[in-house]
Amino acid sequence: MAPFFVPQNYSTVINYIKLIFLLAMIQFGRTGLSQQSGEVVGQLYSDGSLVKITFKDGIITDIVPQTPGNETIDHFIAPGFIDTQLNGYANESFSVEGLNVDKVDKITTSLWKEGVTTYVPTYVTSPKTIYLDNLKVLADYIENHPNGGCTPGAFLEGPYISPIDGFRGAHNLKHVRDPDWKEFESFIKASNNHIIMIGVAPEQPGAMDFIKKTLDKNIMVSLAHHNGSMEQVKEAVGLGATVSTHLGNGCANHIHRHDNPLWPQLSEDNLTPSIIVDGHHLRREEVRTFYKVKGPENLMLVSDAVFLSGMPPGEYEWAGKKVVMTAEGKLRMPDQDVLAGASFPIHTGISNVMNYTGCSLNDAVNMATRVPARVFGFTDRGSLEKGKRADMVVLTRENGKVVVQKTIVNGKTVYTK
Ligand SMILES: [Zn+2]
Repeated sequence: MAPFFVPQNYSTVINYIKLIFLLAMIQFGRTGLSQQSGEVVGQLYSDGSLVKITFKDGIITDIVPQTPGNETIDHFIAPGFIDTQLNGYANESFSVEGLNVDKVDKITTSLWKEGVTTYVPTYVTSPKTIYLDNLKVLADYIENHPNGGCTPGAFLEGPYISPIDGFRGAHNLKHVRDPDWKEFESFIKASNNHIIMIGVAPEQPGAMDFIKKTLDKNIMVSLAHHNGSMEQVKEAVGLGATVSTHLGNGCANHIHRHDNPLWPQLSEDNLTPSIIVDGHHLRREEVRTFYKVKGPENLMLVSDAVFLSGMPPGEYEWAGKKVVMTAEGKLRMPDQDVLAGASFPIHTGISNVMNYTGCSLNDAVNMATRVPARVFGFTDRGSLEKGKRADMVVLTRENGKVVVQKTIVNGKTVYTK
């Protein structure tokens, strides 16, 4: 008979490893496996001054000014990027069958090389079972996985959006439906209260009542893929809708010059738009205009990246439809002449917004860190301050592009170029 601690078969070995892992997690805390101490020296992204940032147990403990020496330090330290609209990455998606915790973690860890330390998993318009199954998986990941702290919760971009071609974008018409509170309650339950935002078309039947109930549950409302009138946008904002999802997209190609959903969303002070500045979704002049109207403190960069991000050019199938990835990284759905999400990570947006608007690195980075953190209420991250999570990116600027050199999550270096 073997001694009691020698596993006798494969499943016992797995259970044995799981037990050791569990004990380690209890020992170090839920995100404890990645909590480390250390320091990083570089130029502060906000003003270029030389600093040393120290951190302990995953938290920033001090930011100390340094006297420049003979050595040239050309890299910047910025807060870890926060992407509040990410449909998938690295060949995995939140809205397909068969999602599991390992696949979610593959997305999390793949994003580290892009400097993304926090992201909001985004669920596109899907059948009910996809939401129920995949939100459960996300809840498990958030609550039990050591890297769960990288995802504060889910954004349901659909299914309560406009069914009309153009406004609907690449969302599948078959599954678009009117706001349904009972159904949404079942999604909240499946997610174990980890839905943090839902997109709604305010012109759809029952939308205002749905928005009210959603906000009562402390879930944010964004206006997404809609053709809301001035009155409807005003009413939704009055109720407490705070975000315009990828402003300038999710909109028909031909709209009325006066009565269209863009003007009211631009004119509402209490709406913070997200924008996809990947070089394809918006023209340079649109980005410049949105930037001038809203300002860097009221505009968020998002990637809207999909599972094909990082894949080579070619034809792919997505939810039963053909999508084409062009050599320039444009993802198109040819049968409807619409863009099928984006393929570039959020730092592409940081580079482009600086090139388009002439804004500073400080403003561009804030649109992908501090602003989303404020809008979404992520109080423990989004800026380099004592007491915040030690989520940081070391970056350089090369030929008009931001290049991620190193990513630190919760005080642990998780990526080095
Ligand atoms: Zn969209």
